[in-house]
Amino acid sequence: MKTIYLDYAATTPVDPRVVETMLPYFSEHFGNPSSVHYFGQKADAALEGARQAVADVFQSKPDEIVFTSCGTESDNMALCGAARLARKERDADTLLITPLEHHAIEKTAEYLVEREGFKLQYIPVDSTGQVILPEFNKILSPKVAIVSVIYGNNEIGTLNPIPEIGRLCRGQGVLFHTDAVQAAGSCTIAVPEINADLISIGAHKFYGPKGIGALYIRDGIKIEGLLHGGPQEMDLRPGTQNVPLIVGLAKALTLAVEEREATSTGLISLRDKIIASVLEQIPNAALTGHPQQRLANHASFIFPGVNGNELVMLLDHAGFACSSGSACKTGNPEPSKILLSIGVSYQDASGSLRVTIGKHTTVAQVEAFLAVLPALVAKSRK
Ligand SMILES: *Cc1c(COP(=O)(O)O)cnc(C)c1O
Repeated sequence: MKTIYLDYAATTPVDPRVVETMLPYFSEHFGNPSSVHYFGQKADAALEGARQAVADVFQSKPDEIVFTSCGTESDNMALCGAARLARKERDADTLLITPLEHHAIEKTAEYLVEREGFKLQYIPVDSTGQVILPEFNKILSPKVAIVSVIYGNNEIGTLNPIPEIGRLCRGQGVLFHTDAVQAAGSCTIAVPEINADLISIGAHKFYGPKGIGALYIRDGIKIEGLLHGGPQEMDLRPGTQNVPLIVGLAKALTLAVEEREATSTGLISLRDKIIASVLEQIPNAALTGHPQQRLANHASFIFPGVNGNELVMLLDHAGFACSSGSACKTGNPEPSKILLSIGVSYQDASGSLRVTIGKHTTVAQVEAFLAVLPALVAKSRK
């Protein structure tokens, strides 16, 4: 029996068209893009072509795009860079983030507090995990160095009102970063629409390769990089660029945008089928996150009385790969902080299940999943 993959929020398979685009840059056009000769020029042309393609999606200039090693690195560079810059330029030292950030932001913020003396304040969110705009507006002041808000939540799927948050930040002259790693495949990241100053993405969440990301940095924001070395990536990210992976990121992002409308219609209907069926068939099941304003491929639940990790194992034995919360927390018996922060009780938070579908998921796969889930939840409750 083949296991059915329902964990696209953890990672996605690389699209065969992306693999094909990357292949020549491993061994044929293998040059170092910084070399002046023919081989270098070939690699540099691919690198700058990819930068232009990514900039087209952001509707930005190519030199506003920095390639990094992953979404996590983009988040680190954005938060550290912007926080240090704001302290130097404006004497602002408060970090404003939501309690629902990915570890890549959460732990970086904690680092900046512990090691560099920044202050951390959390932005109030409602029970769906969305930023409460009037409350946010109340705590936003020129003392804030950087605001960072997750665009599409990896654990509960909720989308945040990014354009409005961006407008409020701009009104106060405060830098605004959004972690769009989970959202970039299915939501617009066009800068004129979302009003962010810094935007993180990572290719493996939209059918690109792992180990490659990008950070959009608005023109004129002079942040410092995390690493020290050569002049690559506008002096922000030294190290020879990973040309095949960068070409792959650009191709995957371009495909995601081109196919977004066609893909999301199918995903939303499958997602809503999962949500409706689970809520109907499983006693006391509750949806986590926003019922409508959520990622197109994301369904997440709480089953009181269930151990989420155990349910994920039962599902795996039955041939379905899901997760309980985020991929990074597998095996961790502690209930998710994100669920606690939206008001789920400590006890119930252990009974979480995340089902995330993708462009290869079929109706038959979803139906097979929905046919076994109620019995496995009941078994786990015993
Ligand atoms: C996956 C993810 C990250 C981390 O990206 P990596 O490329 O795996 O480092 C950061 N933020 C969010 C919201 C994510 O979903």
